[in-house]
Amino acid sequence: MKTPGSATAGKVMRIQQSGRFSVRSESLPTWCPGCGYFGIHQGINDAIQHLMIPHHKVVTVSGIGCAGRYPFFVNTYGLHTAHGRSLPVATGVKMANPELTVFAVGGDGDGLGIGGGHLPHAARKDIDINYILFDNSIYGLTKGQPSPSSPIGFRTKASPEGSEGAPLNGTLMALSYGASFVARLFAGDPEGISAALMEGIAHKGFSFFHVYSSCVTFDKQFKTWENLKKQVHSLPDGHDPSSRKGAMVQALEDDFSMGIIYRKKEG
Ligand code: SF4
Repeated sequence: MKTPGSATAGKVMRIQQSGRFSVRSESLPTWCPGCGYFGIHQGINDAIQHLMIPHHKVVTVSGIGCAGRYPFFVNTYGLHTAHGRSLPVATGVKMANPELTVFAVGGDGDGLGIGGGHLPHAARKDIDINYILFDNSIYGLTKGQPSPSSPIGFRTKASPEGSEGAPLNGTLMALSYGASFVARLFAGDPEGISAALMEGIAHKGFSFFHVYSSCVTFDKQFKTWENLKKQVHSLPDGHDPSSRKGAMVQALEDDFSMGIIYRKKEG
């Protein structure tokens, strides 16, 4: 009978042989243990690996925040830019060399707060980049303030009276702005993230990936793993991803349906 130690060693060996870790850099992630960003990291890496994109042809661009550290942990070119500015920098990278696969990454504070003015323009111009919004509805790096996607009444140490203002719906925003590929995904499902990314990377145009994640350190009530696992579900059977109107209704009426919600027809 195998001991638990040998089972783990065997699993690690199989992962190493699969090449799945080859996209990771030598810098180990500094995120808190249990952070949802590990699942997103795995999903992105698996997509790059499966598509066999040469690492020197990939650029990851981030803003500021816990998600902003991502380029350090991946074995591609990378830019850690200013707060909220991943999209304009990623646009510039793609313009300078259209052959590159370009990812812009950032959290909900970075992308929907200070950087919120860039999303409509990248989407409406249909820039051929892949924007991954790591949405845990909290500012983790600065220790737990409500973010633009926090629900009304969200209490943290920094908001003891509860947050005010209705949350922004990133998926609905991207659809409204004209994004030509939109997926809503869950950090607890790296396979789903990887599958959607592979389609989005192949799509010629602006691809938006809204990934629900969990900040295990500062959020004990809203996007916890326990809550998310109970709430997320697949898009309904019969959902037509070629209909923007249908996608907008779906995004408006069901916050937790996951999958490729919109894909503009080619041509
Ligand atoms: S503070 Fe929250 S978002 Fe940041 S690394 Fe820790 S768990 Fe993740």
